[in-house]
Amino acid sequence: MAELVKGLHIVDGVKGDDSDVNVVAIVEDDRSAHIVDCGDPGSGEQILGYLQKHVRDPPKIRTLVLTHFDADHSGSAAELKRMTGCTIMAPEFDAEIISGRRFTNEEMRRVLPAYAPGEIEALERKIESQEIPTVPVDRVLRGDERLDFAGGVRVLRVPGHTPGHIVLLVPRLSTLITGDVVTAPDGRVGPPMPQYTPSPDRAIKSLKSLAGLEFEILVAYHFPPITEGGSRALKGYLRTLGK
Ligand SMILES: [Zn+2]
Repeated sequence: MAELVKGLHIVDGVKGDDSDVNVVAIVEDDRSAHIVDCGDPGSGEQILGYLQKHVRDPPKIRTLVLTHFDADHSGSAAELKRMTGCTIMAPEFDAEIISGRRFTNEEMRRVLPAYAPGEIEALERKIESQEIPTVPVDRVLRGDERLDFAGGVRVLRVPGHTPGHIVLLVPRLSTLITGDVVTAPDGRVGPPMPQYTPSPDRAIKSLKSLAGLEFEILVAYHFPPITEGGSRALKGYLRTLGK
């Protein structure tokens, strides 16, 4: 798929759970690159190879931002760290899972006091059902910060698919990178995939908090990017939900 607009790349050929996914590379003029999510284990070579092939003066990967803990997003984080020394960032709660911590049911209820027992159980099943590769997270994000690349990237917390899930708004590129908080079949926006979302009501409530954002491009992880009218497509979906 390559370069959507100048500096915004979708890295070809990366798989997540064995199907195509949208690993984003933001490439800056100073030859630094910042990656958002990184596919199944073994994707590191593909990501570096893409930059070498498609970007003149291949850039150095400085940052890897993980939107959430799922293994198809975090799978090659350890190898990218080894290969490039990049700074790994991930949101609160999810960062602990990515760093290898496992919570008991009691601990989980303590760290997520607003969650109903059913949500906690669904979350436990989600974590247990996958092999999440372990890598230390260098910077834990709270979901209200501005990252210092690409002219300033806004981090927004959108819990529901996982407790810490973040999305990234890149105003300079008029782009929202959504991870798994929405689906985007046929250029339309829809709810996150129910079978992988332990807190669907929380996810919908979170999505409503994005209603005021303006952007052209919407990159969901598992669907072709929406390259025009991204915020219009999101608002269109939110309107179907009512209040
Ligand atoms: Zn996910």
